[in-house]
Amino acid sequence: MSTREAGSGARVTALVTRQDLEAREADTLAPYATLSRDHAGREHPEPESAGRTAFQKDRDRVLHTPAFRRLEAKTQVFLNFSQAASADHYRTRLTHTLEVQQVARSVAVNLGLNETLAEAVALAHDLGHPPFGHAGERLLDSLLAADGGFNHNTQARRIVTELERHSRHFPGLNLTRDTLDGLNKHHRDGLGQPSLEAQLVDAADALAYTAHDLDDGLRSGLLTPDQLMDLPLWQDLLARTGVNAPPLTSLDRRMLHRELLGWLITDLTEASARSIQDSGVQSAAQARAWPHRLITYSDPMRALLRDTGTFLRERLYRHWRVEMQVEQAQRTLHTLFHAYLNRPGMLPPQARVNAERHGLPRAICDQIAGMTDRYALETHAALTPPAATPSWPH
Ligand code: MG
Repeated sequence: MSTREAGSGARVTALVTRQDLEAREADTLAPYATLSRDHAGREHPEPESAGRTAFQKDRDRVLHTPAFRRLEAKTQVFLNFSQAASADHYRTRLTHTLEVQQVARSVAVNLGLNETLAEAVALAHDLGHPPFGHAGERLLDSLLAADGGFNHNTQARRIVTELERHSRHFPGLNLTRDTLDGLNKHHRDGLGQPSLEAQLVDAADALAYTAHDLDDGLRSGLLTPDQLMDLPLWQDLLARTGVNAPPLTSLDRRMLHRELLGWLITDLTEASARSIQDSGVQSAAQARAWPHRLITYSDPMRALLRDTGTFLRERLYRHWRVEMQVEQAQRTLHTLFHAYLNRPGMLPPQARVNAERHGLPRAICDQIAGMTDRYALETHAALTPPAATPSWPH
């Protein structure tokens, strides 16, 4: 507990303990928030920290992993594996993750949810992405079709429970079940709803990529301001900002992105507050037992976002220049996978241990999925003979 020197008001000790932090949560968060003192435990029991809550520990463990640092050199949607300086401003998997974290924290504070749990889930939510984004994911899924397939959400959980090591005694990070459950995006198997904090991260993820893919699409020239005029969300956005487009300056584009983020965050916050209030839920357990998700957009915004998703799929994610990169990415990973399959001795020692435990295809998949775009391209180049110089006998 904080103490102050009598009379002077000067702080002499300010040791805030975990119990203080837990009490602060209980005093200040909404009744439907997930409190860290009520966390659902860890697979391997461990003592609580003196100065951090359980969710703070989870957040910090994720942040300090090599898997988190590698997000810096993984493609978000497209373009990042170009070595060109022009690619420097596009989102990477890391900056996307930080945008999701920021959105989730902002909304969590406004809704009285546990900001730290939301932050821990947000930081971990994309750890499972392989190199080259969804192009890499689809290829690994097809290569592993007979061995359980590949999915980035399942892989994120695999990374934090199996592949990352931070203890001699057990694999994984030993995160709380609350944080792990937040990573179970599509595989809930009758578990009810995720916590409101995990629902919030899902919404923040979609919010962030919708806004930044429009922005990166325009920046790259793959989307044009003319094309966007077909999009109801864009028309509303122009009306809100007073920007006349086209043409669109880079300052206009930034203003539109800023406005879009603010608009989406406000809609998500207000609509979620209404739905929580209308539901009458009074505890985290009641929120999880509710028949549908309570973190939601307004109906009009949901319709706008649905149209925007369709637009992005058709005009950006399947743009012919993106398709060229998808082809290059998939050829690269296909070659790597079969090279390791033919010669498992090329796998590093830990991957060979994994092969004994989980089978060779899964161990190769883990090895490749952990690579950055750069590392995958370099490894591929190292296995590919340089173009032969014809030398004719004479
Ligand atoms: Mg994401």
